[in-house]
Amino acid sequence: MSETDKTPLPNKYENFNEWYNEILQKAELIDLRYGVKGFIVYRPNAAVIMRQVYRLFEEELDRLGHAPCIFPVVIPFEFFEKEAQHIKGFLDEVFWVTKAGQHELNKPLLLRPTSETAMYPLYAFWIRSYKDLPLKLYQSNSVYRYETKATKPLLRGREFFWIEAHCAHRTKENAERQVLEDMEVMSNALHEVLGVPFLLLERPPWDRFAGAERTYAFDVVFPDKSVLQIATTHILGENFSRAFEIMYKDEDGELKYVQQTCFGIGISRILATLISVHGDEYGLVLPFDIAPTQIVIVPILFKEAGGIVMEKCKAIFEKLCEKGYRVMLDDSDERPGAKFYRWETLGVPVRIEIGPRDVEKGVVTVFRRDTRERIVVRENELEEKIKELRKDILRVLRERGEKWLEANLRDVKSKDDLIMLAREGGIGRMAFCGREECASEIKAETGGFEVRGVRVGEKWEKLSVCAACGKEAKELVYVAKPY
Ligand SMILES: [Zn+2]
Repeated sequence: MSETDKTPLPNKYENFNEWYNEILQKAELIDLRYGVKGFIVYRPNAAVIMRQVYRLFEEELDRLGHAPCIFPVVIPFEFFEKEAQHIKGFLDEVFWVTKAGQHELNKPLLLRPTSETAMYPLYAFWIRSYKDLPLKLYQSNSVYRYETKATKPLLRGREFFWIEAHCAHRTKENAERQVLEDMEVMSNALHEVLGVPFLLLERPPWDRFAGAERTYAFDVVFPDKSVLQIATTHILGENFSRAFEIMYKDEDGELKYVQQTCFGIGISRILATLISVHGDEYGLVLPFDIAPTQIVIVPILFKEAGGIVMEKCKAIFEKLCEKGYRVMLDDSDERPGAKFYRWETLGVPVRIEIGPRDVEKGVVTVFRRDTRERIVVRENELEEKIKELRKDILRVLRERGEKWLEANLRDVKSKDDLIMLAREGGIGRMAFCGREECASEIKAETGGFEVRGVRVGEKWEKLSVCAACGKEAKELVYVAKPY
């Protein structure tokens, strides 16, 4: 059997833009011809992966006591303007609905850029007593932001898909625990299912979510060494509960403001991450647990032996389906080479090839997408092998990503180091004074590198001076160029 030799994609590390645009087309993920800037069409191959990602997080949130809800896409302006910092942060990014039919609306509505101000007026009705707490609700939806920077499909658009979870707690401690739980949900999913290495950073004060007391963010490093924020969780304190008068009667009979948190999981951006971090010059590479199709069976048919091969394929197909795997039997009329090419482009993690000689010998050929290796497996050992591959594919993808992150992490000791980092790309780790002005200077002098924050849980030795300005250092931060 020979592999059909189709033109591979460019090398993603050398030319990420070209690679990314080509893979979106080649794997039939996204169509850009809708004609409205920042709005894209998700084709079935993208939508099924997103559905898997949604399920992964929805099931986890459900398990942890959150409940789903659905709020309207429009927000009345009087709700939106209640929290001062929030409106300041979002006003320039809002899409407005000002007309309905032939009439101008008396009170314009806005398309949600995020749902705090849609949900919290209702939280004020629903929460009465300490017995109503915690209230943990989430919605899986799309939000709208009028991005003025250049848009890039899935990475930065004017409509994107996410999950937003909004919690109200009785005490500050419970709210803090909630944020730790959110971080764990995200870390586990990235580590145990998606195989994506990340930096979990507490954002500096000037980069917090509008209205938050503290913001924690997950940054992922892309093949061009830029970083993408894919999830955030925030401690809101009483900022919104005071603005929306969300109060509860405590056990002691006193009226108190609830302590709030919110957690956003960027589903469109996770799709972009899976494509970019794992993909290669042959197309998508998907981790086993998230892949819409985990195993594809391709019969290698010869006229005289077609019957027994198909019979064997069907038997194995049924057996694997019974075990709960998402399996496809490709019995289309295409030649095997064309089938291989198609399933590789789509990133199906495991392919099973069965020909007449395999049936005779009681074996099957197993191809794994991550390493593109072929191995011959005895039919009665196939299920064991798949169990092993499920874990090993995740391990290989994760280690590949970790190596990439490690190789591009640099210690920055001086301004010269910063300039060098800007020239070569990568993630810098440096002693920092904590001043916003210094961060702005870094950004101006490096062509866009930002202070992304302190790594959660990282301990550091006594720091001397800020690598950028020479003033006293207060913390160890990561600097990187974001999308
Ligand atoms: Zn400084």
